[in-house]
Amino acid sequence: MSEIALLRDLLAHPKNIVITTHHKPDGDAMGSSLGMYHYLEQKGHTVRVITPTDYPVFLHWLPGNPEVIIYTEKITESDKLIENADLIFCLDFNALSRINEMGEKVRASAAKKIMIDHHLEPEGFDDFRHWSINACASAQLVYDFIANQMNEPELVNKDVATCLYTGIMTDSGSFRFPSTTAEVHRIVAELIAAGAENWKIHQQVYDNFSENRLRFLGYSLLNKLEVQSEYCTAFISINQEELQKYNIITGDTEGLVNYALTINGVKLAALIIERPDKVKLSLRSKGDFPANEICKRYFNGGGHRNAAGGYSEKSLEETVNQFKSILPEYKSLLIQ
Ligand code: 5GP
Ligand code: MN
Repeated sequence: MSEIALLRDLLAHPKNIVITTHHKPDGDAMGSSLGMYHYLEQKGHTVRVITPTDYPVFLHWLPGNPEVIIYTEKITESDKLIENADLIFCLDFNALSRINEMGEKVRASAAKKIMIDHHLEPEGFDDFRHWSINACASAQLVYDFIANQMNEPELVNKDVATCLYTGIMTDSGSFRFPSTTAEVHRIVAELIAAGAENWKIHQQVYDNFSENRLRFLGYSLLNKLEVQSEYCTAFISINQEELQKYNIITGDTEGLVNYALTINGVKLAALIIERPDKVKLSLRSKGDFPANEICKRYFNGGGHRNAAGGYSEKSLEETVNQFKSILPEYKSLLIQ
C-alpha cells in the first residue's frame, strides 16, 4: 500500500490528533495549522493545535484561534494530549529542535508523525511526509494534501480557505517571491472561490498594528539603519532598551528587515535583535545570494536562500561586528 493510501486509511476513522508548528509561529505556521485543524474537524477527528510559544496578535483573528493551546502556558495538558495522540501533524518545520522542549515529547509519543513542510534538510523524525522546497508556503502543501492527496477538495470550506490563504500570502511576500508560481495563483483562486475574503485578510494581517509599532519602525529606519554600500548590504540592530522603550511584543519586529532590502542595489539585509537570552538574526537577500549559508555557517541557523535566520550567544555588539566581518568573504557574490 502506498504511503498516502495508508494515511487515507488512518484518517478514515476518528482519531486523536495533535497539530503543531514551529517556535514563534508566523502566518504560514498558524495558517497551515488552523487550515489543517478545520479540515480534520470536518472529518470527525478530535483535533488540538498546540504551538510551542505565543505568536503575533495580528494572527489572533484567524478562525479557530481560541482553540489553540500555547505549550508553555499549559504544559501538563499539552503533554497528555501529545502522549495520547494517534497522529501528530508537524507543519512548517522539519527538525524537532524547532519546537523547543515540546520536541522530545513529540519524539517520545507513539503517535504517527506527519510532516508537511518546505524547509531544507528534514531531520527525519517523521513517518509520513509531504515535503517540497519549491512550495512557497507550507499552506500550499496543506492545500495539495487535502485537495489532491486526500482527494477532498470539497472540504476546503471558508475557514480552511481563509487560513491557507493567510499562510500563502504571508510566506510568499504577498505573492511576489520567485516561489509564487502559476500553480500558486491557481490555488489562491480556488481559495477565494471557497470563501477566503482576500481584501479582508490583507487588512487583518497588514493594517492591524499598534501605534507603537509604527513609531518603532520610524525610529529604526531613521536611527538604526546601517548601509555598507561596498558590500551591497544594509542592516538594523536593536537592543533590549529600545525594545522596551517602544513596548515591542511578539510580531512587532516582523517585516522590519524587509525595509533594509528595499534600498536600490542592496542585496543582503539583516535585522539583529538582542533578546533576553540570545541575539537573534533575520537575514533576507535578493537573487541568488544564499542568506541561509551565512546563518548555517556562523549563526546556528538556516532557512531558505532568500529568507533565513539564526542566533548568537555573543553580545549584540560582538554579533554585529561578526556579521560585518563576514561580508568581505562574500563580496564577490554581493557585488554581482
Ligand atoms: P525569520 O527571519 O522570519 O525569523 O525567519 C526566516 C526563515 O529563516 C524561517 O522561515 C526559517 O526557515 C529560518 N530560520 C529563522 N530562524 C531560524 C533558526 O534559528 N534556525 C533555523 N534552522 N532556521 C531559522
Ligand atoms: Mn513557511
